[in-house]
Amino acid sequence: MSEASVQQYSGESPEARFLSELDTGSAKIQQCSSCGKKFFQPRTHCPHCSSEHYSWVPLTMAGVLHSFTNLPAQRERAAYNVVLVDMEDGFRMMSTCPGMELDMHSIGMQLRGRVDHDSVPPRIVFGTPA
Ligand SMILES: [Zn+2]
Repeated sequence: MSEASVQQYSGESPEARFLSELDTGSAKIQQCSSCGKKFFQPRTHCPHCSSEHYSWVPLTMAGVLHSFTNLPAQRERAAYNVVLVDMEDGFRMMSTCPGMELDMHSIGMQLRGRVDHDSVPPRIVFGTPA
């Protein structure tokens, strides 16, 4: 076994960094230092150009509803929805719009993200802009 094969990644993973930022109420995403594109989910390499150089920048929190699915209540779980939001930052994010009634007329509506601290771990959820 070569020494290289036993090396372990010792840094904080992008996922852990993302979650620790959310814990403090700050939603940050990665922006590639080579091509300039922003990306999400957190990852070690830019999905556009494969660069491993990036910085953490604030998520704009603004997006448009692309698609949704309404899921009915089951035993201990209340009804909820799963949404796909086209973010101003240039990627699509999967999330939920708590308490919102979504129908086909909702497609294209402006949404605003917020950090949901009631969830463990915290997550980004969406509602209508204030
Ligand atoms: Zn890139």
